[in-house]
Amino acid sequence: HQPELWSDEFNDFICKCLIKDFELRPNVLDLLQHVFIKQTVGREKILQKQLIELIDLNQQIGVIEKTRHERIHTKKGSHMKTQDADEVDDLATLEVLDENTVADQLQNRYARDQVYTYVGDTLIAVNPFHKMEIYTPEHTKMYIGAKHTANPPHIFAVADTAYQSMVSYNNDQCIVISGESGAGKTESAHLLVQQLTVLGKANNRTLQEKILLVNSLVEAFGNACTVINDNSSRFGKYLEMKFNGGGTVVGAQISEYLLEKSRVVHQAMGERNFHIFYYIYAGLADRKKLAHYKLSDSKTPKYLYHENIKLGPDIVNNASYKEQFDAVEQCFKVIGFTLEELGNVYSTLAAILNSGDIEFSPVASEHQTDKSNISNMSVLENVASLLRIRSDELQEALTSHCVVARGETIVRPNTVEKAVEVRDAMGKALYSRLFSWIVNRINALLRPDSQGEDDKGLNIGILDIFGFENFKKNSFEQLCINIANEQIQFYFNQHIFAWEQDEYLNEEVDARMIEYEDNRPLLDLFLQKPMGMLSLLDEESRFPQATDQTLVEKFEGNLKTKSFWRPMRVDLGFGIHHYAGKVIYNAAGFLAKNRETLPADIILLLRSSENELIRKLVTHPLTRTGEVDTTPGESGDTPYHPRETTNMRTQTVASYFRYSLMDLLSKMVAGQPHFVRCIKPNNDRHANKFDREKVLVQLRYTGVLETAKIRRQGYSHRILFANFIKRYYLLAYHANEEPAATPETCAAILEKAKLENWAMGKTKVFLKYYHVEHLNLMVQQA
Ligand code: ATP
Ligand code: MG
Repeated sequence: HQPELWSDEFNDFICKCLIKDFELRPNVLDLLQHVFIKQTVGREKILQKQLIELIDLNQQIGVIEKTRHERIHTKKGSHMKTQDADEVDDLATLEVLDENTVADQLQNRYARDQVYTYVGDTLIAVNPFHKMEIYTPEHTKMYIGAKHTANPPHIFAVADTAYQSMVSYNNDQCIVISGESGAGKTESAHLLVQQLTVLGKANNRTLQEKILLVNSLVEAFGNACTVINDNSSRFGKYLEMKFNGGGTVVGAQISEYLLEKSRVVHQAMGERNFHIFYYIYAGLADRKKLAHYKLSDSKTPKYLYHENIKLGPDIVNNASYKEQFDAVEQCFKVIGFTLEELGNVYSTLAAILNSGDIEFSPVASEHQTDKSNISNMSVLENVASLLRIRSDELQEALTSHCVVARGETIVRPNTVEKAVEVRDAMGKALYSRLFSWIVNRINALLRPDSQGEDDKGLNIGILDIFGFENFKKNSFEQLCINIANEQIQFYFNQHIFAWEQDEYLNEEVDARMIEYEDNRPLLDLFLQKPMGMLSLLDEESRFPQATDQTLVEKFEGNLKTKSFWRPMRVDLGFGIHHYAGKVIYNAAGFLAKNRETLPADIILLLRSSENELIRKLVTHPLTRTGEVDTTPGESGDTPYHPRETTNMRTQTVASYFRYSLMDLLSKMVAGQPHFVRCIKPNNDRHANKFDREKVLVQLRYTGVLETAKIRRQGYSHRILFANFIKRYYLLAYHANEEPAATPETCAAILEKAKLENWAMGKTKVFLKYYHVEHLNLMVQQA
């Protein structure tokens, strides 16, 4: 009995076949051909496509598919070999382009430890969660100046492309690494720097070494253990490698963004403070120097106290922390910090740790206002001595504040609550300013002119920010982190889809348009003025009577979009449908976190310090100033692209955040971008575990399928006729010829290079990503 093709009965039949025989799709195809020999001869492709659609539709088969993949996974040997023939290094070359095929590809490759795959000129990197032998000096060599198709896809190839483009076109490059927390961005950034220092053949080994150490150093201060990632970046990092006109690396500069400084004084359950605090504690103990820095080897400072680390010895005896401390110190020294500077850094860190232990107790004053007293004066003395300030002045600055009323300065006492707030604000400010100071120092030490080089060369920037986060409880910090990721996704979309497709229209080039998920409405929701979320937050922060409750109500009253909602039964809760998924935030503490400023009394006191570093930390230019206006312009130009109209205002965290984001973007858009999209294969950080559903979600929200489509159908490179001819005319003309800048000349060159599938616009040549690689190689050989 032959059921009618694609009827329900037929579906059931296939399900049964699949249940019975867990084998792969080709086998089912064979089976079908056998059963429906007449209908299927010559129609394998169509049948295969229909079968894939069927599998999409049929949940039961979906489950079977999953089991099948788990089997493939455990049965690496013989089975995988049969899959190799279908495997592609570049998803844009797939014949069948749909979600499941793409996921199959990544899964099969992952099972063979081939974690890298191209989508045209974008690289997908699936986190292997184990050490791999593919970053050896042999691999480094293999990827220098090689065509993409000559080797398996690799992060080194991205470094190479960026480097070759910089040298060939004489312009800046920018490598944008994205992906959720724990997906492998920071590791990728390290590998890129590693390859770029080799490509840039640093003249002196020390410079090469210094640049490699910069990442490790700033990560000791800016990374921490979270519930998602043991080495989670808690700041955004843009590292620019500087090259001279000849392509030799001559220096480096880092910009740091939005350090999550609240972590200094408070960590969520299961999380830790910044790495450096543990390293220094263990390291100083090892050298018997704890007492010098007023730290105890038996009592853990409150800022480090954690349900898993209850006692000082847990930190003090940790061998890995000691090693890390030695490594950090070595980094400092190699980069060029002086011993005096190092001592000051340690004192500041120790002062922050000690300050967390200052305790306050309430005292009722005669005027019935709550006053506070310091209950452990010895700790206060320690902090004052480490900061080289007067302890009585510190006491005053913590337990009281000055207000100016009718021209008169009045001293008002601080409640215990307020005093704790001031103490914590001081700790956070000292740490974030120390971090900025270290970055500034590194920049001074690695600036090209400090290496005796001209500063006007070229650069390759590498962007590695904190990834998208969704915890059980999400606060203001997660909102900022997720908005930054939203912005990076927007930039990716603009670059890959919007600008490219605009050019097809303008240049009248015939290309099919690709639909993609535009997250612009979400950016409007956050950043628009005056009705975006951050503006509303700033407005509410200006009302002394406002509470987190009135803030959420303000959001609810003004943000009329499906992407924002108030979940039932969550006090102070609000939900946002981000590009990468739904997140429920809790607004508790939003206003305080946004308003947060360091009281003037503390700033003045720190300025009186006898320690030069402490004084520097509270003096311009390290104090932040300025805000960039991002209001959409009347000319209709794209918002969220920096226009540097500096507008000084009282700073809130939100306005500073907006400023930083725009500053970051201005750096990014200045270079030609390359994208690395990191994918996290499972939530358990296990090697060899490919959670298909988890990967599919990431493929969807990063638009991998659409990227593959546009790379297959579109033209990622558009070059003005004159520029194209200037660069490639030697392929078809003599050196002394001066061919006219016409489409005909361009066509002649392309034909001579035997290239097909390019297009000619009104002013530009439209090329596929692989054309450019081919042309560049030909020019090099010419
Ligand atoms: P976050 O947004 O939290 O900073 P991230 O994307 O920067 O996360 P990484 O810190 O780079 O994530 O990676 C998390 C962990 O995954 C690493 O500590 C490492 O154990 C593992 N990992 C990432 N990439 C690789 C790789 N190429 N080879 C081996 N292990 C890797
Ligand atoms: Mg990271």
